[in-house]
Amino acid sequence: MISTDVVIVGAGPVGLFQVFELGLLDLRAHVIDSMPQVGGQCVELYPDKPIYDIPAIPVCSANELIERLMQQIKPFAPQFHLGEEVAEVARGDNGRFCVRTNAGTELDAGAVIVAGGVGSFRPRLLTLPGAERIEGRQLHYKVQDPGVFAGRDIVIAGAGDSALDWALALYDKCNSLVLVHRSREFRAAAGKVRQMERLCSEQKMQFLEGDISGLLLDGDRLEALQVRARSGLTNRLDADHVLVFWGLHPKLGPIATWGLDLEKNQIPVDTAHFATNVQGIFAVGDINTYPGKKKLILSGFHEAALAAFGVREFLAPGEKVHLQYTTTSPIMHKRLGVAEATRSEPA
Ligand SMILES: Cc1cc2nc3c(=O)[nH]c(=O)nc-3n(C[C@H](O)[C@H](O)[C@H](O)COP(=O)(O)OP(=O)(O)OC[C@H]3O[C@@H](n4cnc5c(N)ncnc54)[C@H](O)[C@@H]3O)c2cc1C
Repeated sequence: MISTDVVIVGAGPVGLFQVFELGLLDLRAHVIDSMPQVGGQCVELYPDKPIYDIPAIPVCSANELIERLMQQIKPFAPQFHLGEEVAEVARGDNGRFCVRTNAGTELDAGAVIVAGGVGSFRPRLLTLPGAERIEGRQLHYKVQDPGVFAGRDIVIAGAGDSALDWALALYDKCNSLVLVHRSREFRAAAGKVRQMERLCSEQKMQFLEGDISGLLLDGDRLEALQVRARSGLTNRLDADHVLVFWGLHPKLGPIATWGLDLEKNQIPVDTAHFATNVQGIFAVGDINTYPGKKKLILSGFHEAALAAFGVREFLAPGEKVHLQYTTTSPIMHKRLGVAEATRSEPA
């Protein structure tokens, strides 16, 4: 089992800045996120949009903000567990927390900070009869092993970057590839759409404008899809595999089962330490609520600073924690790796 001072649930902007604030107080963190990448809503929902209300940065894209945060937290060497959802948080007899993910990772932590935003992002599912029976075998929401598609008949559903990326990556490896989307409006980058259209005109793949309306199964085996085209006609598409990339939507998920009070899917906290009703579990960012709460990155950054002091007090009760400026404190410089400490100072 991995042992650490703090587990942070969520690698959105607030979870990332939380690493920094904990690091300044000499606390190490492991960060877990169900997404395969860091950045939370910023990266998942609006990566290229400009943000104008980050202090001292007049404008930057959401992606750039996340890159800058990653750079800022580097001195504290956080350990990331990406693509893993925190399933369970339980307090052991020794007062520490055992945190388990759906991938089987187990961490032993002194405190837990929930920075889960609006919950973990889940794929939008194909909800046709029979879909659950073939999920993971012939119906896929992510690609784990592209090799399984070699020489097969593939249908890809979607119009975003994931759908186009996989169509472009697989068209020359499978037997046939049909991209299905209900309209000709694509959300993917224009260059990828042009490349897909060129491959269609060269008959290396096909595009079908319509909705998947049925799954034709032989027992537990998918044989073909029914696709209702815009013309109103229903087509049969032979398929060994269907890959669905309809985007992601957030769901509170397992956070609701950790014994935390919830108010409309948010965790009430005190505004001194951002502590929850469970001692040792703190909540920052979009996931928490308190009088006057504003779901802004700026608010989350402030919360992360105070939560770090709260965690420090919780882990070392009675120990005096002095506020130190990063400009002038040698011990801060040492922790940041910007200079050698000249003498030892209290935390
Ligand atoms: C289109 C749009 C534009 C916006 N523009 C601005 C703006 O200009 N300025 C501004 O201040 N704010 C803006 N916001 C809001 C801002 O994005 C949020 O306030 C911010 O992302 C909250 O950060 P967070 O770290 O609390 O949560 P999130 O960014 O939501 O990150 C939470 C992370 O936790 C993970 N997670 C949740 N549960 C689990 C679990 N059980 N296990 C593992 N991982 C889990 C999720 O996968 C997610 O990655 C905007 C939001 C949107 C949608």
